[in-house]
Amino acid sequence: MNYLSTRGHPDRKRFCEILLEGLAPDGGLYLPEQYPQVDTATLAKWRKLSYAELAFEILSLYIDDIPPADLKAICAKTYTAEVFGTDEIVPLRELEDGVYLEALSNGPTLAFKDMAMQLLGNLFEYELARRGAELNILGATSGDTGSAAEYAMRGKKGVRVFMTSPDGRMSPFQQAQMFSLQDANIHNIAITGVFDDCQDIVKAVSNDLAFKRKYRIGTVNSINWARLLAQVVYYFAGYFQATAANDKPVSFTVPSGNFGNVCAGHVARMMGLPIHTLVVATNENDVLDEFFRTGVYRVRGAVDTHETSSPSMDISKASNFERFVFDLVGRDTAKLRKLFVDDLGLNGSFDLSADPVFAQAAARFGFRSGRSTHADRLATIRDTDKRFATLVDPHTADGLKAAREQLSPGVPMVVLETALPIKFAATLVEALGEEPARPKKFEGIEALPKRVVKLPADAEAVKAYIAEHCD
Ligand SMILES: *Cc1c(COP(=O)(O)O)cnc(C)c1O
Repeated sequence: MNYLSTRGHPDRKRFCEILLEGLAPDGGLYLPEQYPQVDTATLAKWRKLSYAELAFEILSLYIDDIPPADLKAICAKTYTAEVFGTDEIVPLRELEDGVYLEALSNGPTLAFKDMAMQLLGNLFEYELARRGAELNILGATSGDTGSAAEYAMRGKKGVRVFMTSPDGRMSPFQQAQMFSLQDANIHNIAITGVFDDCQDIVKAVSNDLAFKRKYRIGTVNSINWARLLAQVVYYFAGYFQATAANDKPVSFTVPSGNFGNVCAGHVARMMGLPIHTLVVATNENDVLDEFFRTGVYRVRGAVDTHETSSPSMDISKASNFERFVFDLVGRDTAKLRKLFVDDLGLNGSFDLSADPVFAQAAARFGFRSGRSTHADRLATIRDTDKRFATLVDPHTADGLKAAREQLSPGVPMVVLETALPIKFAATLVEALGEEPARPKKFEGIEALPKRVVKLPADAEAVKAYIAEHCD
């Protein structure tokens, strides 16, 4: 399988080449040259597999530069009941007639990002050992990404993590999760500033090409194709659990920010998984909902980007959206460049409302969308607790609300549970008056010794810290 850039760069690459890379050289995102097709006979075979075996089958359609036995071992080592809590890995439970929750948040950091990041950690370790190379991962986090990356990379040979976060702005639980790690290859850097300052530092360091090369700086952000590919697997696993046979359609609702999670659903659907509808759920930061309703994609400025009670969906633009639009415009790279380079560069927006392809987003690709507010989240959390004795986190609540607006008779609706409520305890307390139960392994983590350095919002200070800690 070869990979191409959405912006038309002539090079074709293989999986392990793009594994350690971020954007393509022309600023585009990598996608496979075509989506492998899966027929009903294959689905029938896959239905009987364990999660790790299913992951191997799907990954091996996209990865031909890792020997199958090695890839199989990597999948088996990643998706275990020990790490993810159950043999099903992503168990489905029915909430009400035809509406299901798919549990993606029982990994080490209690958010769905573990599903992909745990695999990425093992792929990185494997590939770096094979090359005899090292990688220093530099990231910025407001919570979920940083902890998922650190728990996936801790103790891995050849990898160091330098994770910046805004000092004092993550929840006490999130801070404790990250800062209590004592592994020598994990470096927490609390920046005096806000999340945007952290992102600016990462950008500034990455733009210093000499520094980047000398210190082998890489990233693990959600544009990484390997992360997206890992997420394709749980759409199949959710489908198998929601149906008894392979001819019935299922819909999915996905709490969305950077469009990585739901883009994996799009890939699963393009492969032939019978997905009826993909519902993109947003919070008050409704860039994506606006596009799917109107055909206008409008990147928000800092003042129009809201801090909400589903913070992992607080985005000003959706960094994976270009992948879907590439398919929407029929993989026409010139048209894609006009939208994402010319129009976005000039106006901060593009408008497909008058273009016939816009109707295809719903008609051919099955996309719908919904939006919710803080009041909606509280209402959904209360209602779900009262009627089903089930606690959901604020992001999953955004999903449930949008899902209920898009139900079709006879089509199961699977809502992806993207975090556990304990991660966002303050909002649960606001809705219900009490803290959600805490898994045993996280009891008392706020009291553990913390390993974190404070640095000013200055890229030079971060560079100096990195240089000092790479021998
Ligand atoms: C990251 C995250 C999201 C958004 O996922 P995308 O892939 O960026 O769309 C939603 N919910 C939670 C809890 C997250 O951590």
